[in-house]
Amino acid sequence: MAQEGGCFCNKIRLSYTGEPSAHVLCHCLDCRKISGSSYSNNFIVPDDNFKLVSGFPKTFSKTADTGKKITSHFCPDCGTTLFRTGESFPGSVIIKIGVMDDPEWPNKNVPKGELFAPERVKWIAPIKNAEQFPGMP
Ligand SMILES: [Zn+2]
Ligand SMILES: [Zn+2]
Repeated sequence: MAQEGGCFCNKIRLSYTGEPSAHVLCHCLDCRKISGSSYSNNFIVPDDNFKLVSGFPKTFSKTADTGKKITSHFCPDCGTTLFRTGESFPGSVIIKIGVMDDPEWPNKNVPKGELFAPERVKWIAPIKNAEQFPGMP
């Protein structure tokens, strides 16, 4: 069964099927800016399992510290970043978990790793049993 999500104004809708191939928190400074929050929570699905259901996201690309290009796909009306694609993740889409419709999604899916762990905001505890990476593995 497809899991669905959308932006804050709901003009852009997406869905995915199957199990995510990865699910991580990211504590890098770019993710703070993009999310407007303290860290990001993201899962990865193969292109074939991803569907843009409605709307036309705007894109913004930046070269990451790795030297690889990464592109944010966001709603031109409400500004929500829904997903990202990049040269470090060929054939995959990185979805922001906050856009999923099911309010229980984050409770049912615990991140398995944390990227850029040393940049973690000090009062945020590591997730138990989540693998800690100094950067991008
Ligand atoms: Zn929107
Ligand atoms: Zn990040």
